[in-house]
Parts: sequence; structure tokens; C-alpha cells
Amino acid sequence: MILPGGWADGQMGRPRSDATAPESAPAAQPSGPSAHPPAGISFDPPSGDLFANDPIQRTASLEDIATLIAACRKCKLCDGRTNTVPGEGPPNARLVVIGEGPGRTEDETGRPFVGRAGELLTKILEAIKLPREQVFICNIVKCRPPENRLPQYDEIAACLPFLYRQIELVKPKVILAMGGTAAQSLLNTKQSLGALRNQVHRFRGIPVIITYHPAALLRNPNWKRPTWDDVRIAARLLDS
Ligand code: URA
Repeated sequence: MILPGGWADGQMGRPRSDATAPESAPAAQPSGPSAHPPAGISFDPPSGDLFANDPIQRTASLEDIATLIAACRKCKLCDGRTNTVPGEGPPNARLVVIGEGPGRTEDETGRPFVGRAGELLTKILEAIKLPREQVFICNIVKCRPPENRLPQYDEIAACLPFLYRQIELVKPKVILAMGGTAAQSLLNTKQSLGALRNQVHRFRGIPVIITYHPAALLRNPNWKRPTWDDVRIAARLLDS
């Protein structure tokens, strides 16, 4: 199936990131995404004053956070990393895209989503007329899990404060969480990706749209249509 932007061609990808995706895709909506998806989870973790002595909370810029991440040894992922992958994009981006964690190419380069999944993400963003350079792109964990396994609970817990602060600084209009790990970690839920899709969740008041991870789309082209529906909901929220 070829979707707008031409990104929906059938390709195979690396084996991970949809571990929490449903076995089969939800039925594609015949006339595209519903205009007003229902409200979903609202997660509002504490920030600021409660952690006044936390160095992450005192960071003033995305570069400061990247510096802290580069020195971070809070979990075992630091032992296997070549580079930390803090994320990249303009500090005033209107959209924040969140993936799971760096893969091999990301670990080698220190940049998020630069492998095959990243190429697909770039095409998806182009399809909604958003050049990748205008989007802040990052991950739940900032160091590569060995053999691209799923990040573990303690690794996610150690890394989330960096993401929280990045979101706090960027103040995006919309967040797009790609894949089960991103969705569940950001919204603090165990609900499946299939259950979380097609709702407008909130993280500290910011609308959050959940969709499939690009690596999952490379393996299962049937998920490209529902992803396109989700991404269009995000685009509409950006334009509202
Ligand atoms: N997959 C992710 O979740 N993040 C990346 O940066 C690359 C692949």
C-alpha cells in the first residue's frame, strides 16, 4: 500500500520494538482518523520544586541535559554504550517524537532515529509536511540496550527524568509516542498499544498521540495505514 509521502512500501526491519504491539492491527478506519478521538489517560508527574536539588531539574537547556546524559551512570546500559543518544531538534519544536531507545546506528553516531527505522520516520514526518529538522526526536532510554532488547524497568525509571525535563524545556504542542515502550513509559500505564491508540492522552496537559514504532512498520506493512491515521490526528492537533 502506498500512502501519501510514499513511505508505505513493504520493507523488513530489525526485530524489536513492537513487543507490546497487538498481534494483529486494529481494523483500518475506512474514512481516516476520527475527527475528535476521545480523551485518554492524563498523566501529570510532579516536577520542579519537589526535586530542587536534582541536577536534571536545574538544567537550563537541552545542551545541559545532553551533558548530564553523557556523564550518566545510573543504570547498566552505560556499560555497553559507544555514545549516549540524548535526542535532537530545535528547542522550540512544536512536535516531540519519542521512540524506545537507540539501536546500533544511533549508538555509533549519537543521533536518534538514523537507521532504517529513522529513514521511515523522516518520510512519515515529511508526509505531514514537517521536515525532520523541525521536530525534537528522542527516546525513552538514551543508551542502547544490548542486542536491541527492550529496555528494562529500572533502565526506564533511571532515564525518564531526562525525558521529562526535555519535554518541560521544549514545551511542544503535541507529543507522538511511537511503540509500546514509549507509550507505556510516558503515560505510566500497562495498557497495550492497541488499546492506547486513537485517543488523545495528556502528559502534563500536552496532547499525546500513540502509534506504532517505525521498526514495527518495516516488519508489518499492515500497520502503516493505522499509523497514517494516527499521524494525521497529531497533524490536526498541531494545526488547531
Ligand atoms: N528505534 C528507536 O526507538 N529509537 C531510535 O533512535 C532508533 C530506533
